[in-house]
Formats: sequence, C-alpha cells, structure tokens
Amino acid sequence: MTSWDNWLEAERERRAQSALERRLQVTERPTEPIAYRGGARLINLSSNNYLGLAGHPLLIEAAAKGAARGAGSGSSRLVAGNDPETAALEEKIAAFKGTEAALLVGSGYLANVGVLAALADRETAVFSDRLNHASIVDGVRLSGAQAHRYRHLDLDQLQELLQSSSAERKLIVTDTIFSMDGDVVPLAELVELKNRYGALLVLDDAHGGGVFGPNGEGYAHELGLADQIELTIGTFSKAFGAYGAYVAANRALIDQLVSSCRTLIYSTALPPSVVASIGAAIELVRVAGDRREALREKSERFRTRLAGLGFDTGASTTQIVPAIVGDSERALELAQALEERGVLAVAIRPPTVPAGRARIRFTLMASHPDHDLELALEALESAV
Ligand code: PMP
Repeated sequence: MTSWDNWLEAERERRAQSALERRLQVTERPTEPIAYRGGARLINLSSNNYLGLAGHPLLIEAAAKGAARGAGSGSSRLVAGNDPETAALEEKIAAFKGTEAALLVGSGYLANVGVLAALADRETAVFSDRLNHASIVDGVRLSGAQAHRYRHLDLDQLQELLQSSSAERKLIVTDTIFSMDGDVVPLAELVELKNRYGALLVLDDAHGGGVFGPNGEGYAHELGLADQIELTIGTFSKAFGAYGAYVAANRALIDQLVSSCRTLIYSTALPPSVVASIGAAIELVRVAGDRREALREKSERFRTRLAGLGFDTGASTTQIVPAIVGDSERALELAQALEERGVLAVAIRPPTVPAGRARIRFTLMASHPDHDLELALEALESAV
C-alpha cells in the first residue's frame, strides 16, 4: 500500500467510527414537494426551493430561451463573457435591491469567498458570527485578515471585540437567516453597532432573499433597514429557484470588486440560460406574496407541531426548522427511519454544526400540501 492508500483507509475508518461518513445519493425531482430515491416516493423536506419556483414554467421557458443563445458563456466576464443580458440583469438586480450597483457572481459560495478575500486584508479586522456559512469562514481565511469569531448572535461579545480592536478597517459579516438553525440576526442592533464603530457590514442573505421583504427583496427590507446596509450577498439558488449569486452595494464597492474579486475575474461567466432564468425569477419573486405567506404559515405550524412532539427546534423562526438531537449517530438513525417512512430530511452533523448539536434539518416550501406535512409529522412520531 502506498502512503496515500494508508491515509485514505485511515480517513475512511475515522469517518465510519464517528458517524461522519457522507454519501452522494441520487434523488429524482429534488426541488419538488415529492422526490424519489431508489424508486421510493418521499415527502421532500430537504430542498431550499422555498417558494416552489424552481419548476415554474416561466422560469423554464426563460432558461430555454437563454440556452438558445448558447450553452456556455465562453470566458470570464472580464474577458468577453459580459454579454448585454448579463449587464442588463445587474441593473435589474440593483433596482430590485435598491442599491446603486450590483454584481453577478457564479454562486453564493464564490461570492462570499471572493468578496471577503477582496475587501479584507492584513490591516482589516473581520468579525464573524461563529455559525456563519462555511463559505464565509473560507473567505475570511483566504483574506489573511485579523479574524475574530464571536459567539452566535452575541452582540455584547461583538462589541467587546470591536472596542478592543485597533485595526485600520473593521468588517462585520453575518448570515441574516442562519442556514442550519433558521434563526435570524438582530439586524437593528447590529446596524447600530457597526455605525458606532465605523465597521463595514456584509450580510449573507442566502436564505432571506425571496422569502422576506414586501416584494421578496430580502431580510433588511423586511425590517426597513435596507438603506443602512453597505453590502449584501445573496444567492439565486434557493427561493429564486435558479442559480448564481449577487453582490448589491454602492458603486465604489462594486468597482473595487470588479478589479479585485478573484472568483469573478478568474472564473467563467454564468451561461445565458442561467442569466435568463434569474431575470425571470426576480419577476416571479416580486409578485410571490401569496407564496411567501403560505411558506410562513406552513413553517410556523410545522415548528409548533415539532415542538409539541418534544423536539428541540432551537431558536428557529423561519422556513428552516431543525430538530436538534445532539448525537451524530442518533441524527443519522432518525433520518434513516424517516426515509423508511417516506420522508426525506437530512441529518446534519459536525463540522457543519457544532459538536453535540447534530440534527435533522427540515426546510419548508410554499408548495408543500398541508396533508403531506401532517403525514411527515406522523412519520416522525412513529420514527422516534
Ligand atoms: N451562504 C449561505 C448562508 C448558504 O446557506 C449557502 C448555500 N448552502 C451559500 C451561502 C452558498 O450559496 P450557493 O449555494 O449559491 O453557492
């Protein structure tokens, strides 16, 4: 055996021992309320297609029209890949978000990594919530900034850290809706803090976009704080039902990113089909008030019923509802028992969540029939 074989075997053994093995599983119709695995029909509580738009005929039609212009974009946007549709889409995104400018990026992951690495450097202190998304963690690491992680939503600790930092520039970065907990950032208090300390606030609104705000503009709009936010990153892969991501900010920040965001500069532009589907998705999201309302109602009812069954749903108030069970093995067993009972809900384990906080993560969709949600809860009751 080579040293690589030995290492791979030791790694496999370690994962198996700690119930941390991950497997890719083929899932058909993964964005629909009913999905299929190995022929089994499953109530799908694992998709981020929150508004049920991914299969919308207008979105598919737009993607097909876009694809007629070519399957790929051919180059980075800084080379020749910045076609008129892409430029027009950025204007549309900026108008939707109410910012001076916007930048279209390949994915939410690429946006977070690229933006943080581009804006923060050794002279910058970055303050990041401990439960921020992995792409934020990676972006901060890549930036080489002075990194401070504060306890989840602990603004007192954040203030102490801001107070004691003598860095030239300060940047606070946070998820708006936390992806594994479904709880929300106290945005008004955070805005007050960043103003007091002259910090730049970067929001990752991956799970807030489309779901919150009068027209789905995002979480800051929901609270009437949009004009206080310097920079928002959001993805089109969840509530918008498409793919790709945006950065919305003032012209100076966007100009800075065009010249320095390496995940923009050194990666091929999104293909025409995706650009076109994002444009259609924004139009659909704007008028999806009924879907937003349905999602809110279903999430609230599901959470209340889950808690009624004795599950710890943490501080969730959104469409992401965890059932925190603690042990990784227990979470895996529960997910397996659910699947056997016709429910698709994944076990989330460390390092995605802190040690001892493994859980089943349920995500609701506006398109879930109430009857199926009730069946899922009955399955859960029988599984435990
Ligand atoms: N930020 C958060 C909070 C997320 O949950 C995700 C998706 N898992 C991302 C960023 C990455 O977005 P994308 O899937 O578009 O790469």
